[in-house]
Amino acid sequence: MENTSVLQLFAIDKHLQIKSINDVERGLACGCSCPSCGEALIARQGDVREWHFAHTSGNDCVNGAETALHLAAKQIIMQSQGITIPERVHSETVRLKDGRVGEGVATRPEMWLSFSQVETEITFGRIRPDVVASLGTTYFFIEIAVTHFIEEDKFIFLKNELKIPTIEINLAGMHHQSWTWDSLEEAVLMNVAQKEWIKILDDTSLILEARELALQHALSVEIPAAKKNTAIEPKRTRFFINERMLDVIERPFGIAIWSPYDPYLNALLKQLMRLVGGRWQPQFKNWLVPLEAKDFLYEAITEMANKPPK
Ligand SMILES: [Zn+2]
Repeated sequence: MENTSVLQLFAIDKHLQIKSINDVERGLACGCSCPSCGEALIARQGDVREWHFAHTSGNDCVNGAETALHLAAKQIIMQSQGITIPERVHSETVRLKDGRVGEGVATRPEMWLSFSQVETEITFGRIRPDVVASLGTTYFFIEIAVTHFIEEDKFIFLKNELKIPTIEINLAGMHHQSWTWDSLEEAVLMNVAQKEWIKILDDTSLILEARELALQHALSVEIPAAKKNTAIEPKRTRFFINERMLDVIERPFGIAIWSPYDPYLNALLKQLMRLVGGRWQPQFKNWLVPLEAKDFLYEAITEMANKPPK
Protein backbone atom coordinates (compact mmCIF):
# COMPACT_ATOMS: atom_id res chain seq x y z
CA MET A 1 0.00 0.00 0.00
CA GLU A 2 1.22 3.44 -0.82
CA ASN A 3 1.46 6.26 1.66
CA THR A 4 -1.42 8.47 0.62
CA SER A 5 -0.49 11.62 2.53
CA VAL A 6 3.08 12.06 1.32
CA LEU A 7 4.02 11.31 -2.24
CA GLN A 8 7.64 10.80 -3.03
CA LEU A 9 8.43 13.39 -5.67
CA PHE A 10 12.21 13.19 -5.66
CA ALA A 11 14.67 10.31 -5.89
CA ILE A 12 18.35 9.62 -6.39
CA ASP A 13 19.62 8.79 -9.87
CA LYS A 14 22.60 6.63 -10.90
CA HIS A 15 24.96 9.58 -10.36
CA LEU A 16 23.66 10.14 -6.82
CA GLN A 17 21.97 13.36 -7.88
CA ILE A 18 18.52 14.26 -6.61
CA LYS A 19 15.98 14.14 -9.46
CA SER A 20 12.44 15.49 -9.61
CA ILE A 21 9.67 13.23 -10.91
CA ASN A 22 9.28 15.81 -13.69
CA ASP A 23 12.83 15.34 -14.93
CA VAL A 24 13.04 11.56 -15.41
CA GLU A 25 11.84 8.91 -17.85
CA ARG A 26 8.66 7.01 -17.13
CA GLY A 27 8.67 3.73 -15.20
CA LEU A 28 11.77 1.77 -14.23
CA ALA A 29 13.62 3.53 -17.02
CA CYS A 30 14.05 6.47 -14.63
CA GLY A 31 16.97 4.55 -13.12
CA CYS A 32 16.24 6.02 -9.71
CA SER A 33 16.37 4.59 -6.22
CA CYS A 34 14.95 5.58 -2.84
CA PRO A 35 17.31 7.73 -0.77
CA SER A 36 15.99 6.14 2.41
CA CYS A 37 15.81 2.39 1.79
CA GLY A 38 17.77 2.14 -1.47
CA GLU A 39 15.06 0.25 -3.33
CA ALA A 40 14.61 0.79 -7.07
CA LEU A 41 11.80 3.18 -7.87
CA ILE A 42 9.21 3.37 -10.65
CA ALA A 43 8.38 6.80 -12.02
CA ARG A 44 4.58 6.94 -12.15
CA GLN A 45 3.63 9.63 -14.63
CA GLY A 46 0.01 8.77 -15.28
CA ASP A 47 -3.00 10.92 -16.00
CA VAL A 48 -5.06 10.23 -12.89
CA ARG A 49 -2.83 10.69 -9.86
CA GLU A 50 -0.18 13.29 -9.30
CA TRP A 51 3.17 12.13 -10.70
CA HIS A 52 5.32 10.38 -8.07
CA PHE A 53 7.86 7.65 -7.45
CA ALA A 54 6.70 4.25 -6.23
CA HIS A 55 8.78 1.46 -4.71
CA THR A 56 9.06 -1.60 -7.00
CA SER A 57 7.94 -3.90 -4.19
CA GLY A 58 4.94 -1.69 -3.47
CA ASN A 59 6.50 -0.87 -0.10
CA ASP A 60 5.09 1.99 1.90
CA CYS A 61 8.44 3.60 2.67
CA VAL A 62 7.77 6.04 5.48
CA ASN A 63 11.00 8.00 5.23
CA GLY A 64 11.54 8.09 1.49
CA ALA A 65 9.77 11.38 0.83
CA GLU A 66 11.28 13.08 3.86
CA THR A 67 14.82 11.92 3.09
CA ALA A 68 14.49 13.05 -0.51
CA LEU A 69 13.31 16.50 0.57
CA HIS A 70 16.16 16.74 3.06
CA LEU A 71 18.78 15.76 0.47
CA ALA A 72 17.33 18.06 -2.15
CA ALA A 73 17.51 21.02 0.25
CA LYS A 74 21.15 20.22 1.02
CA GLN A 75 21.93 19.92 -2.68
CA ILE A 76 20.40 23.36 -3.32
CA ILE A 77 22.61 24.97 -0.66
CA MET A 78 25.71 23.17 -2.00
CA GLN A 79 24.99 24.57 -5.47
CA SER A 80 24.07 28.11 -4.42
CA GLN A 81 26.95 28.54 -1.91
CA GLY A 82 24.80 30.87 0.15
CA ILE A 83 21.38 31.56 1.68
CA THR A 84 19.29 34.55 2.71
CA ILE A 85 19.47 34.95 6.47
CA PRO A 86 16.67 36.56 8.48
CA GLU A 87 16.92 39.75 10.50
CA ARG A 88 18.98 39.44 13.66
CA VAL A 89 17.65 41.02 16.84
CA HIS A 90 19.06 41.13 20.35
CA SER A 91 17.65 43.05 23.30
CA GLU A 92 19.18 43.80 26.69
CA THR A 93 17.88 45.41 29.87
CA VAL A 94 20.13 47.41 32.18
CA ARG A 95 19.11 48.15 35.77
CA LEU A 96 21.10 50.82 37.57
CA LYS A 97 21.67 50.81 41.34
CA ASP A 98 19.45 53.85 41.74
CA GLY A 99 16.51 51.93 40.24
CA ARG A 100 16.58 53.36 36.74
CA VAL A 101 15.96 50.84 33.97
CA GLY A 102 16.82 51.04 30.28
CA GLU A 103 16.23 48.76 27.32
CA GLY A 104 18.34 48.48 24.20
CA VAL A 105 17.68 46.60 20.97
CA ALA A 106 20.35 45.93 18.36
CA THR A 107 19.36 44.69 14.91
CA ARG A 108 20.92 43.61 11.64
CA PRO A 109 18.74 43.43 8.52
CA GLU A 110 17.90 40.36 6.47
CA MET A 111 20.71 39.69 3.98
CA TRP A 112 22.25 37.25 1.54
CA LEU A 113 25.12 35.36 3.13
CA SER A 114 27.75 33.91 0.78
CA PHE A 115 29.78 30.92 1.88
CA SER A 116 33.38 30.25 0.90
CA GLN A 117 32.74 26.51 1.17
CA VAL A 118 29.79 24.19 1.81
CA GLU A 119 30.09 20.62 3.08
CA THR A 120 27.92 17.90 4.57
CA GLU A 121 28.61 14.80 6.62
CA ILE A 122 31.05 16.53 8.98
CA THR A 123 30.95 15.67 12.67
CA PHE A 124 31.60 18.19 15.45
CA GLY A 125 31.95 16.58 18.84
CA ARG A 126 28.75 14.63 19.27
CA ILE A 127 26.75 16.34 16.56
CA ARG A 128 26.61 16.27 12.79
CA PRO A 129 25.04 19.41 11.34
CA ASP A 130 23.12 18.95 8.07
CA VAL A 131 25.23 21.55 6.32
CA VAL A 132 28.60 22.94 7.40
CA ALA A 133 29.40 26.18 5.58
CA SER A 134 32.50 28.30 5.92
CA LEU A 135 32.57 32.06 6.25
CA GLY A 136 36.24 32.80 5.79
CA THR A 137 37.78 31.34 8.95
CA THR A 138 34.55 30.64 10.84
CA TYR A 139 31.92 27.95 10.42
CA PHE A 140 28.20 28.40 9.88
CA PHE A 141 25.82 25.51 10.51
CA ILE A 142 22.50 24.90 8.79
CA GLU A 143 19.94 22.46 10.15
CA ILE A 144 17.18 21.36 7.80
CA ALA A 145 14.04 20.27 9.61
CA VAL A 146 11.41 18.28 7.77
CA THR A 147 9.80 16.22 10.49
CA HIS A 148 12.61 16.04 13.03
CA PHE A 149 13.36 19.36 14.65
CA ILE A 150 16.49 20.08 16.57
CA GLU A 151 16.47 18.35 19.96
CA GLU A 152 16.84 20.25 23.21
CA ASP A 153 20.29 18.91 24.11
CA LYS A 154 21.65 19.50 20.61
CA PHE A 155 20.22 23.03 20.75
CA ILE A 156 21.96 23.75 24.05
CA PHE A 157 25.21 22.20 22.81
CA LEU A 158 25.19 24.36 19.68
CA LYS A 159 24.19 27.54 21.48
CA ASN A 160 26.24 27.39 24.65
CA GLU A 161 29.17 25.08 24.01
CA LEU A 162 30.06 24.99 20.34
CA LYS A 163 29.20 28.69 19.89
CA ILE A 164 29.02 28.39 16.12
CA PRO A 165 26.34 30.44 14.36
CA THR A 166 23.49 28.10 13.44
CA ILE A 167 20.21 28.47 11.61
CA GLU A 168 17.34 26.04 11.26
CA ILE A 169 15.30 25.91 8.05
CA ASN A 170 11.82 24.59 8.63
CA LEU A 171 10.53 22.61 5.64
CA ALA A 172 7.73 20.87 7.51
CA GLY A 173 5.20 22.82 5.48
CA MET A 174 6.57 21.34 2.25
CA HIS A 175 6.48 17.77 3.42
CA HIS A 176 2.82 17.29 2.67
CA GLN A 177 2.59 19.24 -0.53
CA SER A 178 4.01 18.74 -3.96
CA TRP A 179 7.14 20.71 -4.44
CA THR A 180 9.35 21.53 -7.36
CA TRP A 181 12.94 22.66 -7.58
CA ASP A 182 11.67 26.22 -7.87
CA SER A 183 9.47 26.11 -4.79
CA LEU A 184 12.17 24.36 -2.79
CA GLU A 185 14.80 26.90 -3.86
CA GLU A 186 12.44 29.68 -2.83
CA ALA A 187 11.98 28.08 0.60
CA VAL A 188 15.62 27.22 1.22
CA LEU A 189 17.41 30.18 -0.32
CA MET A 190 15.08 33.14 -0.36
CA ASN A 191 12.36 32.77 2.24
CA VAL A 192 13.20 33.94 5.78
CA ALA A 193 9.89 33.30 7.51
CA GLN A 194 10.72 29.62 7.92
CA LYS A 195 14.24 30.22 9.25
CA GLU A 196 15.06 30.44 12.89
CA TRP A 197 18.31 31.35 14.61
CA ILE A 198 19.64 28.71 16.97
CA LYS A 199 22.78 30.74 17.56
CA ILE A 200 22.85 34.23 16.02
CA LEU A 201 25.65 35.17 13.64
CA ASP A 202 27.97 37.80 15.21
CA ASP A 203 25.92 37.84 18.41
CA THR A 204 28.80 39.31 20.43
CA SER A 205 28.65 42.62 18.59
CA LEU A 206 24.84 42.64 18.87
CA ILE A 207 24.98 42.00 22.63
CA LEU A 208 27.51 44.79 23.20
CA GLU A 209 25.54 47.23 21.09
CA ALA A 210 22.25 46.39 22.85
CA ARG A 211 23.88 46.80 26.28
CA GLU A 212 25.36 50.16 25.34
CA LEU A 213 21.96 51.37 24.11
CA ALA A 214 20.26 50.06 27.25
CA LEU A 215 22.78 51.87 29.45
CA GLN A 216 22.29 55.13 27.54
CA HIS A 217 18.53 54.81 27.91
CA ALA A 218 18.79 54.05 31.64
CA LEU A 219 21.04 57.07 32.18
CA SER A 220 18.68 59.34 30.26
CA VAL A 221 15.80 58.50 32.61
CA GLU A 222 15.27 61.01 35.42
CA ILE A 223 16.09 59.66 38.88
CA PRO A 224 12.80 58.73 40.58
CA ALA A 225 11.78 61.46 43.06
CA ALA A 226 11.09 58.94 45.81
CA LYS A 227 14.65 57.69 45.54
CA LYS A 228 16.04 61.21 45.88
CA ASN A 229 14.12 61.86 49.11
CA THR A 230 14.90 58.60 50.76
CA ALA A 231 18.60 58.73 49.88
CA ILE A 232 20.56 58.52 53.11
CA GLU A 233 22.10 61.85 53.98
CA PRO A 234 25.75 61.44 54.95
CA LYS A 235 26.55 62.20 58.57
CA ARG A 236 28.16 65.61 58.77
CA THR A 237 29.85 66.97 61.91
CA ARG A 238 31.08 70.55 62.09
CA PHE A 239 34.12 71.48 64.17
CA PHE A 240 35.73 74.83 64.83
CA ILE A 241 39.48 74.87 65.15
CA ASN A 242 40.77 78.26 66.21
CA GLU A 243 37.52 79.69 64.89
CA ARG A 244 38.07 78.05 61.52
CA MET A 245 35.28 75.86 60.24
CA LEU A 246 35.94 72.18 59.41
CA ASP A 247 33.38 69.58 58.34
CA VAL A 248 33.76 65.82 58.71
CA ILE A 249 31.43 63.99 56.31
CA GLU A 250 30.97 60.25 56.59
CA ARG A 251 30.47 58.55 53.24
CA PRO A 252 30.17 54.82 52.44
CA PHE A 253 33.60 54.80 50.79
CA GLY A 254 35.50 57.00 53.26
CA ILE A 255 35.44 60.11 55.39
CA ALA A 256 35.69 63.46 53.66
CA ILE A 257 37.27 66.45 55.40
CA TRP A 258 36.27 69.84 54.08
CA SER A 259 37.20 73.34 55.15
CA PRO A 260 37.35 76.76 53.52
CA TYR A 261 40.83 77.64 52.31
CA ASP A 262 43.04 78.74 55.20
CA PRO A 263 46.85 78.39 55.41
CA TYR A 264 46.91 77.77 59.18
CA LEU A 265 44.29 75.03 59.09
CA ASN A 266 45.71 73.53 55.92
CA ALA A 267 49.11 73.06 57.55
CA LEU A 268 47.50 71.35 60.55
CA LEU A 269 45.37 69.13 58.33
CA LYS A 270 48.32 68.08 56.16
CA GLN A 271 50.10 66.69 59.24
CA LEU A 272 46.98 64.88 60.40
CA MET A 273 46.29 63.45 56.96
CA ARG A 274 49.77 61.96 56.86
CA LEU A 275 48.97 60.08 60.08
CA VAL A 276 45.59 58.73 58.97
CA GLY A 277 46.45 58.02 55.33
CA GLY A 278 44.17 60.71 53.91
CA ARG A 279 44.52 61.77 50.30
CA TRP A 280 43.72 65.08 48.65
CA GLN A 281 40.93 65.02 46.06
CA PRO A 282 41.56 68.05 43.85
CA GLN A 283 38.25 67.68 41.98
CA PHE A 284 36.26 68.00 45.25
CA LYS A 285 38.77 70.19 47.11
CA ASN A 286 38.62 67.93 50.14
CA TRP A 287 40.54 65.15 51.84
CA LEU A 288 39.40 61.56 51.83
CA VAL A 289 40.32 59.39 54.83
CA PRO A 290 39.96 55.59 54.91
CA LEU A 291 37.07 54.36 57.08
CA GLU A 292 39.47 52.36 59.29
CA ALA A 293 40.93 55.61 60.62
CA LYS A 294 37.53 56.97 61.70
CA ASP A 295 37.92 56.73 65.51
CA PHE A 296 41.46 58.09 65.50
CA LEU A 297 40.40 60.91 63.19
CA TYR A 298 37.52 62.08 65.39
CA GLU A 299 39.73 61.93 68.46
CA ALA A 300 42.47 63.99 66.84
CA ILE A 301 40.07 66.62 65.45
CA THR A 302 38.20 66.91 68.76
CA GLU A 303 41.52 67.45 70.48
CA MET A 304 42.47 70.16 67.96
CA ALA A 305 39.09 71.84 68.44
CA ASN A 306 39.37 71.80 72.23
CA LYS A 307 42.80 73.41 72.28
CA PRO A 308 42.61 76.97 73.51
CA PRO A 309 43.14 79.51 70.75
CA LYS A 310 46.70 80.72 70.33
ZN1 LIG B 1 12.32 3.74 0.36
